[in-house]
Amino acid sequence: MTFSIHGLAVARGIAIGRAVLVASSRVDVAHYFIQPDQVASEIERLRLARDAVVDELQRLQKDMPKDAPHELVALLDVHLMLLQDVELTSGVRHWIEERLYNAEWALTSQLEIIARQFDEMEDPYLRERKADMEQVAERVLHCLKGTSSLVTQAKRPARPQQELQLGDTMDVPLVLVAHDLSPADMLQFKQSVFAGFVTDVGGRTSHTAIVARSLDIPAVVGARSASQLVKQDDWVIIDGDAGVVIVDPSPIILADYGFKQRQGDLERERLARLRHTPAVTLDGQKIELIANIEMPEDTVAAITAGAVGVGLFRSEFLFMGRQGNLPGEDEQYDAYRRAVDGMNGLPVTIRTVDVGADKPLDEARHDAAHLNPALGLRAIRWSLADPAMFLTQLRAILRAAAHGKVNLLVPMLAHGSEIRQTLALIEQARQELDRRGVAYGPVRLGAMIEIPAAALSVRMFLKYFDFLSIGTNDLIQYTLAIDRADESVAHLYDPLHPAVLRLVADTIAECVKQGKGVSVCGEMAGDVGMTRLLLGLGLRSFSMHPSQVLSVKQQVLRSDTAKLALWAEKVLASDEPATLMPTTR
Ligand code: PEP
Ligand code: MG
Repeated sequence: MTFSIHGLAVARGIAIGRAVLVASSRVDVAHYFIQPDQVASEIERLRLARDAVVDELQRLQKDMPKDAPHELVALLDVHLMLLQDVELTSGVRHWIEERLYNAEWALTSQLEIIARQFDEMEDPYLRERKADMEQVAERVLHCLKGTSSLVTQAKRPARPQQELQLGDTMDVPLVLVAHDLSPADMLQFKQSVFAGFVTDVGGRTSHTAIVARSLDIPAVVGARSASQLVKQDDWVIIDGDAGVVIVDPSPIILADYGFKQRQGDLERERLARLRHTPAVTLDGQKIELIANIEMPEDTVAAITAGAVGVGLFRSEFLFMGRQGNLPGEDEQYDAYRRAVDGMNGLPVTIRTVDVGADKPLDEARHDAAHLNPALGLRAIRWSLADPAMFLTQLRAILRAAAHGKVNLLVPMLAHGSEIRQTLALIEQARQELDRRGVAYGPVRLGAMIEIPAAALSVRMFLKYFDFLSIGTNDLIQYTLAIDRADESVAHLYDPLHPAVLRLVADTIAECVKQGKGVSVCGEMAGDVGMTRLLLGLGLRSFSMHPSQVLSVKQQVLRSDTAKLALWAEKVLASDEPATLMPTTR
């Protein structure tokens, strides 16, 4: 039966495929396809891992002291029994043989199915056996680690959508459905086999959504109970434009969305022709369209999209998911240098690490110890609390600046004292490099305006910095007191709130007045519905995901800033700016 689930639209486009349900805790399990001639060896790999766990459990049983509690012995029996469970073993074989999933993926897929059956059991004792099944599977997964079949993580050739039939089992795209994915998990899927994503939680500007957007594949977040309603292998349509997930679509709906999908592809091809067109408005204003990236490799997408620089390199992605082993100076220098080289002489703005809030370093550290993480030790506060770590990063950035144009951007500053400490540490990093005789280059210094207090003290900021970059994602979060990662308040997250517009407008105006550079690097910059308003407010530099550059350029080419300035005045003066916006938003 067809049904739909409504969430938040975060990454454009339509994806049609079969659902792969992944529990958040198992996202770092490898997902790749094996070749048909590897089926037997993959099943053997799984058998060996399972036998190793059986041995381990039997050894534990044998070595058990005589006075060990009876429950413990019984528990090991249960685990051994579950390892032989026909539903588990035959199900896993099915995923390997029929779908060519690697062993780990096959095991977790089957586990999701069985876990659901346990959840539906009436008997509480039996329901609790789910945890045992999960523990057993974790042991097998652990044994599989390091024995991965060395195959390329090749994408299966997807069939053209018009040929899709609901009965197909092979050669169809897959879409990932999970309760939650951390930004680091999401990043893992950059080169993945998935054609789209759905998560139960998350807001439109949560970092998970931001990474999904940078992957440039359709995604819906905040879809509440999607991971419970969708079953493994269900047919799913993800409408990333409308924020809707359609489960088990009828052939008519499928055909309709297949058509929309092809229209989207045609639109992209058309936009691609603008790649080399300079971003100049009808009245001759030159607009800078630059890219937000997470990894040095993203510079390829930035260049392909025709971005004229990187306006935000979110360096924290180098720090995440490393179980506390933070990257050293050389590793960071290498990453920043690759980004600089990748941009072929165009400027690269490296933001110092911004972890905390919804960007935990790793899952283990994402605890509830900080009651209000968005207001806690995040971004520059975290850096200033660990000067040795911060100095390491600063030295790496300064060294990379010897190879091209680098701007150093500092997130979440609010206090004059923070600014002065940061500048002193940058100077200290230079002196340390001087003492070591290591080459480094000049950097332009920038501050992010992300906290209302900062927006209200722009003049103080401009005494210290060469340029400002407005982080509207956080500026909106902190102005409206709305957690950007919480889908339950996502409807209140409003870039057009008069207070938000006032802070953005005044920041731009003061920078323009003082002849200092200013850009917007939050999601607002890549929203084509906001381009004209920002142009009208005097903005000339927009930093966004590479996938958004061409659509924004199209808006720029159709705009006349002189006319837009008059209209923007009215929007700014209105109590309900949304009513004055064109309906394209
Ligand atoms: C912002 O807050 O707008 C921003 C660009 O930084 P981030 O999204 O990484 O917090
Ligand atoms: Mg921010």
